[in-house]
Amino acid sequence: MTTEERPPKAIKKRFYRKRVPLLNLVNKIKLWPSRTGQLHGIRSVVIAGDTARVITHCNKEFLIKNSQNSRAARWLRNKWFSQVCPKCGVPDWKLQKYSSTMFKRHQGSMLTGDKDA
Ligand SMILES: [Zn+2]
Repeated sequence: MTTEERPPKAIKKRFYRKRVPLLNLVNKIKLWPSRTGQLHGIRSVVIAGDTARVITHCNKEFLIKNSQNSRAARWLRNKWFSQVCPKCGVPDWKLQKYSSTMFKRHQGSMLTGDKDA
């Protein structure tokens, strides 16, 4: 079979724990749902203890707390957002990766080890 005939690469599903620490999750997927339902792309995450300063591509700054039960953690797990921030220009592959991410209670990474990096 030639290269042209090959089916497109299937999107690999990723599994993360439901109780994955929010800061680890944000640091990994580099997406942030704002209160207004806009999904931003993250340019930098600076973690300081139990909080992190997140700077989006559209130059918004958020100070986030490491909580599994916060609004943002819930939104990220459920992949809720009303629209993608037009200024951040989140690429499609990133959104596809995000939508193929699963959160399970007993399966997946907590994103705490080096092998997850
Ligand atoms: Zn943005």
